[in-house]
Amino acid sequence: MRVMAQMAMVMNLDKCIGCHTCSVTCKQAWTNRAGTEYVWFNNVETRPGLGYPRTYEDQDKWEGGWVRKANGRLELKAGGRIKKLLSIFSNPKLPSINDYYEPWTYDYETLTNSPQTDTFPVARPKSLISGKDMNVEWSANWDDDLGGSMEHASRDVMLKGIEDKVKFEFEQTFMFYLPRICEHCLNPSCAASCPSGAIYKREEDGIVLVDQDRCRGWRMCVSGCPYKKVYFNHKTGKAEKCTFCYPRIEVGIPTVCAETCVGRLRYIGLMLYDADKVLEAASVENDHDLYEAQRSVFLDPRDPEIERAALDAGIAPDWIEAAKKSPVLKLITDYKVALPLHPEYRTMPMVWYIPPLSPVVDVVKETGEDAEDQRNLFAAIDTLRIPVEYLANLFTAGDPVPVDMVLKKLAAMRSYMRDINLGRDPDESIAEAVG
Ligand code: SF4
Ligand code: SF4
Repeated sequence: MRVMAQMAMVMNLDKCIGCHTCSVTCKQAWTNRAGTEYVWFNNVETRPGLGYPRTYEDQDKWEGGWVRKANGRLELKAGGRIKKLLSIFSNPKLPSINDYYEPWTYDYETLTNSPQTDTFPVARPKSLISGKDMNVEWSANWDDDLGGSMEHASRDVMLKGIEDKVKFEFEQTFMFYLPRICEHCLNPSCAASCPSGAIYKREEDGIVLVDQDRCRGWRMCVSGCPYKKVYFNHKTGKAEKCTFCYPRIEVGIPTVCAETCVGRLRYIGLMLYDADKVLEAASVENDHDLYEAQRSVFLDPRDPEIERAALDAGIAPDWIEAAKKSPVLKLITDYKVALPLHPEYRTMPMVWYIPPLSPVVDVVKETGEDAEDQRNLFAAIDTLRIPVEYLANLFTAGDPVPVDMVLKKLAAMRSYMRDINLGRDPDESIAEAVG
Protein backbone atom coordinates (compact mmCIF):
# COMPACT_ATOMS: atom_id res chain seq x y z
CA MET A 1 0.00 0.00 0.00
CA ARG A 2 1.33 3.44 -0.98
CA VAL A 3 -0.69 6.11 0.84
CA MET A 4 -0.97 9.47 -0.87
CA ALA A 5 -3.06 12.59 -0.27
CA GLN A 6 -5.25 14.27 -2.85
CA MET A 7 -7.21 17.52 -2.85
CA ALA A 8 -10.73 16.87 -4.05
CA MET A 9 -13.98 18.73 -4.60
CA VAL A 10 -17.62 17.67 -4.46
CA MET A 11 -20.30 19.87 -6.02
CA ASN A 12 -23.96 19.57 -5.08
CA LEU A 13 -25.75 20.20 -8.37
CA ASP A 14 -29.16 20.84 -6.82
CA LYS A 15 -27.76 24.05 -5.39
CA CYS A 16 -26.23 25.51 -8.57
CA ILE A 17 -28.25 28.44 -9.93
CA GLY A 18 -26.06 29.00 -12.99
CA CYS A 19 -25.03 32.51 -11.96
CA HIS A 20 -21.46 32.05 -13.29
CA THR A 21 -19.96 33.93 -10.36
CA CYS A 22 -17.43 31.10 -9.99
CA SER A 23 -16.37 31.43 -13.64
CA VAL A 24 -16.00 35.20 -13.48
CA THR A 25 -14.06 35.30 -10.21
CA CYS A 26 -11.79 32.50 -11.44
CA LYS A 27 -11.19 34.44 -14.66
CA GLN A 28 -10.36 37.59 -12.74
CA ALA A 29 -7.88 35.65 -10.62
CA TRP A 30 -6.22 33.44 -13.25
CA THR A 31 -7.00 34.14 -16.92
CA ASN A 32 -7.55 37.86 -17.17
CA ARG A 33 -4.54 38.16 -19.49
CA ALA A 34 -3.62 38.38 -23.16
CA GLY A 35 -3.66 34.96 -24.79
CA THR A 36 -6.23 33.53 -22.41
CA GLU A 37 -9.28 35.54 -23.45
CA TYR A 38 -11.20 32.43 -24.47
CA VAL A 39 -10.05 30.39 -21.47
CA TRP A 40 -12.37 29.46 -18.61
CA PHE A 41 -10.56 27.26 -16.08
CA ASN A 42 -14.01 27.13 -14.42
CA ASN A 43 -17.03 27.00 -16.70
CA VAL A 44 -20.68 26.27 -15.99
CA GLU A 45 -22.47 24.23 -18.64
CA THR A 46 -26.19 24.03 -19.20
CA ARG A 47 -27.30 20.42 -19.50
CA PRO A 48 -28.41 19.02 -21.88
CA GLY A 49 -26.04 20.90 -24.13
CA LEU A 50 -22.87 20.78 -26.16
CA GLY A 51 -20.49 21.82 -23.37
CA TYR A 52 -17.29 23.83 -23.60
CA PRO A 53 -15.48 23.33 -25.90
CA ARG A 54 -18.53 22.14 -27.78
CA THR A 55 -18.87 18.36 -28.23
CA TYR A 56 -15.90 17.62 -25.96
CA GLU A 57 -17.70 14.49 -24.82
CA ASP A 58 -17.83 13.16 -28.37
CA GLN A 59 -14.22 13.67 -29.37
CA ASP A 60 -13.82 10.09 -30.49
CA LYS A 61 -16.26 11.07 -33.23
CA TRP A 62 -13.89 13.83 -34.35
CA GLU A 63 -11.48 13.13 -37.13
CA GLY A 64 -8.24 12.31 -35.32
CA GLY A 65 -8.43 12.62 -31.53
CA TRP A 66 -7.96 9.90 -28.95
CA VAL A 67 -9.86 6.71 -28.32
CA ARG A 68 -9.87 4.56 -25.24
CA LYS A 69 -8.79 0.96 -25.67
CA ALA A 70 -10.28 -1.94 -23.70
CA ASN A 71 -7.28 -1.90 -21.34
CA GLY A 72 -8.13 1.67 -20.38
CA ARG A 73 -5.22 3.26 -22.24
CA LEU A 74 -5.71 6.21 -24.57
CA GLU A 75 -4.51 5.78 -28.13
CA LEU A 76 -4.42 8.02 -31.16
CA LYS A 77 -7.43 7.39 -33.35
CA ALA A 78 -5.63 8.24 -36.59
CA GLY A 79 -5.65 5.09 -38.74
CA GLY A 80 -2.56 3.31 -40.09
CA ARG A 81 0.96 3.21 -38.71
CA ILE A 82 2.34 5.99 -40.91
CA LYS A 83 -0.51 8.33 -40.05
CA LYS A 84 0.00 7.58 -36.35
CA LEU A 85 3.73 8.21 -36.65
CA LEU A 86 3.15 11.50 -38.46
CA SER A 87 0.63 12.60 -35.87
CA ILE A 88 3.30 12.30 -33.17
CA PHE A 89 5.18 15.07 -34.97
CA SER A 90 2.10 17.16 -35.55
CA ASN A 91 -0.83 16.71 -33.20
CA PRO A 92 -4.10 14.87 -33.26
CA LYS A 93 -7.10 17.03 -33.91
CA LEU A 94 -7.56 19.81 -31.40
CA PRO A 95 -10.66 21.83 -30.70
CA SER A 96 -10.58 25.00 -32.78
CA ILE A 97 -11.14 28.48 -31.38
CA ASN A 98 -14.66 28.21 -32.81
CA ASP A 99 -15.30 25.15 -30.64
CA TYR A 100 -14.41 27.21 -27.54
CA TYR A 101 -15.66 30.55 -28.88
CA GLU A 102 -14.00 33.59 -30.34
CA PRO A 103 -14.06 36.12 -27.52
CA TRP A 104 -15.56 39.47 -28.35
CA THR A 105 -16.20 42.88 -26.96
CA TYR A 106 -18.50 45.73 -27.97
CA ASP A 107 -17.86 49.16 -29.34
CA TYR A 108 -18.84 50.85 -26.09
CA GLU A 109 -18.16 54.31 -27.55
CA THR A 110 -21.07 53.83 -29.93
CA LEU A 111 -23.29 52.72 -27.10
CA THR A 112 -22.47 55.49 -24.67
CA ASN A 113 -22.20 58.38 -27.18
CA SER A 114 -25.28 57.52 -29.21
CA PRO A 115 -27.82 60.39 -29.49
CA GLN A 116 -31.17 59.78 -27.79
CA THR A 117 -33.55 57.80 -29.99
CA ASP A 118 -36.76 55.78 -29.58
CA THR A 119 -34.85 52.54 -29.77
CA PHE A 120 -31.80 51.24 -27.98
CA PRO A 121 -28.48 51.88 -29.75
CA VAL A 122 -26.82 48.78 -31.12
CA ALA A 123 -23.11 48.03 -31.20
CA ARG A 124 -21.81 45.09 -33.17
CA PRO A 125 -19.58 42.61 -31.36
CA LYS A 126 -15.90 42.87 -32.28
CA SER A 127 -13.41 40.04 -32.05
CA LEU A 128 -10.94 40.47 -29.20
CA ILE A 129 -8.43 38.51 -31.26
CA SER A 130 -8.68 40.06 -34.76
CA GLY A 131 -10.46 43.32 -33.83
CA LYS A 132 -12.93 42.74 -36.69
CA ASP A 133 -16.74 42.84 -36.56
CA MET A 134 -18.19 39.41 -35.87
CA ASN A 135 -21.35 37.42 -36.39
CA VAL A 136 -21.50 35.53 -33.10
CA GLU A 137 -22.84 32.04 -33.72
CA TRP A 138 -21.47 30.09 -30.79
CA SER A 139 -20.09 30.86 -27.37
CA ALA A 140 -19.31 29.22 -24.07
CA ASN A 141 -22.62 28.27 -22.48
CA TRP A 142 -24.62 29.17 -25.59
CA ASP A 143 -27.08 26.47 -24.50
CA ASP A 144 -28.12 28.55 -21.49
CA ASP A 145 -30.58 30.54 -23.57
CA LEU A 146 -32.02 27.41 -25.12
CA GLY A 147 -32.89 26.02 -21.71
CA GLY A 148 -32.45 22.40 -22.75
CA SER A 149 -34.91 22.90 -25.59
CA MET A 150 -35.78 20.23 -28.08
CA GLU A 151 -32.94 20.52 -30.53
CA HIS A 152 -30.24 20.14 -27.94
CA ALA A 153 -32.07 17.79 -25.62
CA SER A 154 -32.73 15.50 -28.52
CA ARG A 155 -29.15 15.76 -29.75
CA ASP A 156 -27.68 14.69 -26.45
CA VAL A 157 -30.28 12.03 -25.98
CA MET A 158 -29.78 10.66 -29.49
CA LEU A 159 -26.03 10.54 -29.00
CA LYS A 160 -26.39 8.56 -25.83
CA GLY A 161 -28.91 6.21 -27.41
CA ILE A 162 -31.65 6.67 -24.84
CA GLU A 163 -34.21 8.27 -27.15
CA ASP A 164 -36.89 5.73 -26.25
CA LYS A 165 -36.80 6.95 -22.64
CA VAL A 166 -37.30 10.64 -23.32
CA LYS A 167 -40.19 12.14 -25.25
CA PHE A 168 -39.21 15.36 -26.99
CA GLU A 169 -42.03 17.43 -25.63
CA PHE A 170 -41.53 20.74 -23.92
CA GLU A 171 -43.51 19.51 -20.96
CA GLN A 172 -40.79 17.00 -20.39
CA THR A 173 -37.73 19.07 -21.19
CA PHE A 174 -35.29 19.49 -18.38
CA MET A 175 -32.16 21.42 -17.63
CA PHE A 176 -29.60 21.81 -14.91
CA TYR A 177 -26.18 23.35 -14.49
CA LEU A 178 -22.90 21.50 -14.46
CA PRO A 179 -19.94 23.58 -13.18
CA ARG A 180 -16.60 22.15 -14.32
CA ILE A 181 -12.94 22.63 -13.42
CA CYS A 182 -9.92 20.40 -14.09
CA GLU A 183 -10.50 17.06 -12.37
CA HIS A 184 -6.94 16.84 -10.94
CA CYS A 185 -7.15 13.19 -11.92
CA LEU A 186 -5.39 10.36 -10.08
CA ASN A 187 -4.37 9.02 -13.50
CA PRO A 188 -3.99 12.25 -15.51
CA SER A 189 -3.81 11.67 -19.27
CA CYS A 190 -2.66 15.28 -19.79
CA ALA A 191 0.57 14.42 -17.95
CA ALA A 192 0.92 11.08 -19.73
CA SER A 193 0.60 12.69 -23.15
CA CYS A 194 3.09 15.55 -22.61
CA PRO A 195 6.30 14.84 -24.58
CA SER A 196 8.24 17.42 -22.51
CA GLY A 197 7.29 16.11 -19.08
CA ALA A 198 5.99 19.58 -18.26
CA ILE A 199 2.76 18.45 -16.58
CA TYR A 200 3.16 17.01 -13.14
CA LYS A 201 1.06 15.91 -10.19
CA ARG A 202 2.20 17.33 -6.87
CA GLU A 203 3.33 14.68 -4.40
CA GLU A 204 1.82 16.39 -1.38
CA ASP A 205 -1.73 17.08 -2.55
CA GLY A 206 -2.17 15.66 -6.08
CA ILE A 207 -2.80 19.04 -7.71
CA VAL A 208 -1.92 18.82 -11.43
CA LEU A 209 0.16 21.73 -12.75
CA VAL A 210 2.00 22.80 -15.92
CA ASP A 211 5.68 23.76 -15.53
CA GLN A 212 5.78 26.84 -17.74
CA ASP A 213 9.56 26.60 -18.21
CA ARG A 214 9.42 23.03 -19.50
CA CYS A 215 6.32 23.41 -21.69
CA ARG A 216 7.22 23.50 -25.39
CA GLY A 217 3.70 24.13 -26.67
CA TRP A 218 3.14 20.68 -28.22
CA ARG A 219 -0.52 20.81 -27.10
CA MET A 220 -0.64 17.02 -26.77
CA CYS A 221 -2.14 17.67 -23.33
CA VAL A 222 -5.02 19.56 -24.91
CA SER A 223 -5.92 16.62 -27.13
CA GLY A 224 -4.98 14.13 -24.39
CA CYS A 225 -7.35 15.49 -21.73
CA PRO A 226 -10.79 13.94 -22.25
CA TYR A 227 -12.38 16.71 -20.17
CA LYS A 228 -10.67 19.36 -22.34
CA LYS A 229 -9.42 21.21 -19.32
CA VAL A 230 -5.96 22.19 -20.55
CA TYR A 231 -5.82 25.32 -22.71
CA PHE A 232 -3.27 26.84 -25.05
CA ASN A 233 -2.16 30.41 -24.41
CA HIS A 234 -1.70 31.71 -27.94
CA LYS A 235 0.48 34.62 -26.77
CA THR A 236 3.00 32.69 -24.67
CA GLY A 237 2.74 29.46 -26.69
CA LYS A 238 2.38 27.44 -23.47
CA ALA A 239 -0.32 25.25 -21.97
CA GLU A 240 -2.28 26.50 -18.96
CA LYS A 241 -4.84 24.90 -16.70
CA CYS A 242 -6.75 25.13 -13.41
CA THR A 243 -4.31 25.18 -10.51
CA PHE A 244 -6.85 24.31 -7.80
CA CYS A 245 -5.77 27.76 -6.52
CA TYR A 246 -2.72 26.10 -4.92
CA PRO A 247 -1.30 29.36 -3.48
CA ARG A 248 -4.55 29.76 -1.54
CA ILE A 249 -4.77 26.08 -0.55
CA GLU A 250 -1.21 26.27 0.80
CA VAL A 251 -2.22 28.96 3.30
CA GLY A 252 -5.46 27.22 4.25
CA ILE A 253 -8.06 29.12 2.28
CA PRO A 254 -10.39 27.62 -0.34
CA THR A 255 -10.26 27.98 -4.11
CA VAL A 256 -11.67 31.21 -5.53
CA CYS A 257 -14.59 29.36 -7.17
CA ALA A 258 -15.53 27.70 -3.87
CA GLU A 259 -15.20 30.84 -1.80
CA THR A 260 -17.33 32.94 -4.14
CA CYS A 261 -19.94 30.30 -5.01
CA VAL A 262 -23.36 31.84 -4.50
CA GLY A 263 -25.03 28.45 -3.94
CA ARG A 264 -22.36 27.34 -1.40
CA LEU A 265 -22.33 24.05 -3.24
CA ARG A 266 -18.60 23.33 -3.46
CA TYR A 267 -17.06 21.17 -0.75
CA ILE A 268 -13.28 20.89 -0.65
CA GLY A 269 -11.21 18.40 1.27
CA LEU A 270 -8.33 15.96 1.37
CA MET A 271 -8.74 12.32 0.45
CA LEU A 272 -6.20 9.60 1.18
CA TYR A 273 -5.79 6.87 -1.43
CA ASP A 274 -3.69 3.86 -2.26
CA ALA A 275 -1.51 4.89 -5.21
CA ASP A 276 -0.61 1.24 -5.89
CA LYS A 277 -4.24 0.51 -6.80
CA VAL A 278 -4.86 3.38 -9.20
CA LEU A 279 -3.87 1.78 -12.50
CA GLU A 280 -5.60 -1.47 -11.65
CA ALA A 281 -8.82 0.42 -10.83
CA ALA A 282 -8.55 2.53 -14.00
CA SER A 283 -8.23 -0.64 -16.09
CA VAL A 284 -11.22 -2.68 -14.89
CA GLU A 285 -12.82 -4.28 -17.88
CA ASN A 286 -16.43 -3.25 -17.43
CA ASP A 287 -17.29 0.46 -17.54
CA HIS A 288 -20.10 -0.14 -15.04
CA ASP A 289 -17.53 -1.23 -12.44
CA LEU A 290 -15.53 1.99 -12.67
CA TYR A 291 -17.41 3.98 -10.05
CA GLU A 292 -16.93 1.26 -7.42
CA ALA A 293 -13.36 0.63 -8.60
CA GLN A 294 -12.43 4.26 -8.08
CA ARG A 295 -14.06 4.36 -4.68
CA SER A 296 -12.08 1.27 -3.72
CA VAL A 297 -8.76 3.17 -3.97
CA PHE A 298 -9.78 5.64 -1.26
CA LEU A 299 -8.55 4.97 2.27
CA ASP A 300 -10.26 5.88 5.53
CA PRO A 301 -7.92 8.07 7.63
CA ARG A 302 -10.05 7.31 10.71
CA ASP A 303 -8.79 3.72 10.59
CA PRO A 304 -5.73 3.61 12.95
CA GLU A 305 -3.86 1.30 10.59
CA ILE A 306 -4.33 3.70 7.66
CA GLU A 307 -3.36 6.61 9.89
CA ARG A 308 -0.10 4.83 10.78
CA ALA A 309 0.60 4.03 7.12
CA ALA A 310 -0.06 7.67 6.19
CA LEU A 311 2.39 8.88 8.86
CA ASP A 312 4.99 6.36 7.61
CA ALA A 313 4.43 7.71 4.08
CA GLY A 314 5.42 11.18 5.33
CA ILE A 315 1.96 12.76 5.28
CA ALA A 316 1.88 15.55 7.87
CA PRO A 317 -0.20 14.83 11.02
CA ASP A 318 -2.31 17.97 10.55
CA TRP A 319 -3.12 16.88 6.98
CA ILE A 320 -4.27 13.51 8.26
CA GLU A 321 -6.47 15.26 10.81
CA ALA A 322 -7.88 17.42 8.02
CA ALA A 323 -8.55 14.30 5.92
CA LYS A 324 -10.47 12.74 8.83
CA LYS A 325 -12.80 15.74 8.98
CA SER A 326 -13.08 16.21 5.23
CA PRO A 327 -16.65 16.82 3.98
CA VAL A 328 -15.54 15.22 0.72
CA LEU A 329 -14.75 11.97 2.56
CA LYS A 330 -18.21 11.99 4.11
CA LEU A 331 -20.02 12.66 0.83
CA ILE A 332 -18.04 10.12 -1.22
CA THR A 333 -17.33 7.36 1.28
CA ASP A 334 -19.78 7.60 4.21
CA TYR A 335 -23.01 8.88 2.66
CA LYS A 336 -22.16 7.65 -0.87
CA VAL A 337 -24.09 10.47 -2.52
CA ALA A 338 -21.29 11.87 -4.71
CA LEU A 339 -20.39 10.40 -8.11
CA PRO A 340 -17.44 10.97 -10.49
CA LEU A 341 -17.89 12.77 -13.82
CA HIS A 342 -17.44 10.40 -16.78
CA PRO A 343 -15.54 7.63 -14.99
CA GLU A 344 -15.38 5.84 -18.34
CA TYR A 345 -12.59 8.26 -19.32
CA ARG A 346 -10.55 6.25 -16.80
CA THR A 347 -8.39 9.16 -15.67
CA MET A 348 -9.84 8.74 -12.13
CA PRO A 349 -11.30 12.25 -11.76
CA MET A 350 -11.28 13.92 -8.34
CA VAL A 351 -14.09 16.45 -8.75
CA TRP A 352 -17.27 14.56 -7.89
CA TYR A 353 -20.93 15.55 -8.07
CA ILE A 354 -24.11 15.06 -6.09
CA PRO A 355 -26.62 14.61 -8.94
CA PRO A 356 -29.65 16.94 -9.10
CA LEU A 357 -32.88 15.69 -7.59
CA SER A 358 -35.32 17.19 -10.04
CA PRO A 359 -39.06 17.69 -9.33
CA VAL A 360 -41.35 14.69 -9.53
CA VAL A 361 -43.39 15.22 -12.71
CA ASP A 362 -46.55 13.29 -11.83
CA VAL A 363 -47.01 14.80 -8.39
CA VAL A 364 -46.73 18.33 -9.76
CA LYS A 365 -49.06 17.57 -12.66
CA GLU A 366 -51.76 15.86 -10.66
CA THR A 367 -51.94 18.04 -7.58
CA GLY A 368 -50.33 21.29 -8.65
CA GLU A 369 -48.48 21.22 -5.34
CA ASP A 370 -44.85 21.74 -4.56
CA ALA A 371 -43.40 18.29 -5.18
CA GLU A 372 -41.00 18.62 -2.30
CA ASP A 373 -43.86 19.02 0.12
CA GLN A 374 -45.18 15.59 -0.75
CA ARG A 375 -44.59 12.90 1.82
CA ASN A 376 -44.56 10.50 -1.09
CA LEU A 377 -41.63 12.18 -2.82
CA PHE A 378 -39.59 9.11 -2.05
CA ALA A 379 -42.25 6.76 -3.43
CA ALA A 380 -42.64 8.83 -6.60
CA ILE A 381 -38.94 8.91 -7.38
CA ASP A 382 -39.43 6.98 -10.62
CA THR A 383 -41.14 9.98 -12.21
CA LEU A 384 -38.31 12.45 -11.74
CA ARG A 385 -38.10 15.07 -14.44
CA ILE A 386 -34.44 14.40 -15.27
CA PRO A 387 -34.17 10.83 -16.58
CA VAL A 388 -31.95 8.65 -14.40
CA GLU A 389 -30.37 7.33 -17.62
CA TYR A 390 -29.25 10.83 -18.55
CA LEU A 391 -27.51 11.28 -15.20
CA ALA A 392 -26.05 7.77 -15.43
CA ASN A 393 -24.44 8.68 -18.75
CA LEU A 394 -22.72 11.58 -17.00
CA PHE A 395 -21.73 9.98 -13.71
CA THR A 396 -21.64 6.20 -13.79
CA ALA A 397 -20.75 5.23 -17.37
CA GLY A 398 -24.43 4.47 -18.04
CA ASP A 399 -25.19 2.31 -14.99
CA PRO A 400 -28.51 3.59 -13.55
CA VAL A 401 -28.30 1.60 -10.28
CA PRO A 402 -25.90 3.84 -8.28
CA VAL A 403 -27.62 7.01 -9.54
CA ASP A 404 -31.02 5.66 -8.53
CA MET A 405 -29.69 4.86 -5.08
CA VAL A 406 -28.23 8.36 -4.63
CA LEU A 407 -31.48 10.02 -5.74
CA LYS A 408 -33.47 7.83 -3.34
CA LYS A 409 -31.17 8.87 -0.50
CA LEU A 410 -31.56 12.54 -1.35
CA ALA A 411 -35.34 12.19 -1.61
CA ALA A 412 -35.50 10.31 1.69
CA MET A 413 -33.43 12.99 3.40
CA ARG A 414 -35.67 15.75 2.08
CA SER A 415 -38.90 14.00 3.07
CA TYR A 416 -37.48 13.26 6.51
CA MET A 417 -36.24 16.79 7.16
CA ARG A 418 -39.42 18.33 5.76
CA ASP A 419 -41.46 16.27 8.22
CA ILE A 420 -39.27 17.38 11.10
CA ASN A 421 -39.42 21.03 10.05
CA LEU A 422 -43.21 20.87 9.76
CA GLY A 423 -43.51 19.28 13.21
CA ARG A 424 -44.73 15.95 11.81
CA ASP A 425 -43.51 12.53 12.85
CA PRO A 426 -40.90 11.53 10.27
CA ASP A 427 -41.47 8.26 8.47
CA GLU A 428 -38.63 6.13 9.85
CA SER A 429 -39.22 3.43 7.23
CA ILE A 430 -37.96 5.79 4.52
CA ALA A 431 -34.61 6.31 6.26
CA GLU A 432 -34.31 2.56 6.83
CA ALA A 433 -35.04 1.81 3.15
CA VAL A 434 -31.97 3.73 2.00
CA GLY A 435 -29.68 2.72 4.84
FE1 SF4 B 1 -5.28 16.54 -16.71
FE2 SF4 B 1 -7.65 16.82 -17.88
FE3 SF4 B 1 -7.44 15.27 -15.69
FE4 SF4 B 1 -7.20 17.93 -15.48
S1 SF4 B 1 -9.05 16.81 -16.15
S2 SF4 B 1 -5.83 16.38 -14.55
S3 SF4 B 1 -6.21 18.49 -17.41
S4 SF4 B 1 -6.50 14.88 -17.69
FE1 SF4 C 1 -23.28 27.55 -9.65
FE2 SF4 C 1 -21.93 28.49 -7.52
FE3 SF4 C 1 -20.95 28.83 -9.97
FE4 SF4 C 1 -23.15 30.24 -9.24
S1 SF4 C 1 -21.09 30.41 -8.34
S2 SF4 C 1 -22.82 29.12 -11.19
S3 SF4 C 1 -24.16 28.72 -7.90
S4 SF4 C 1 -21.25 26.86 -8.95
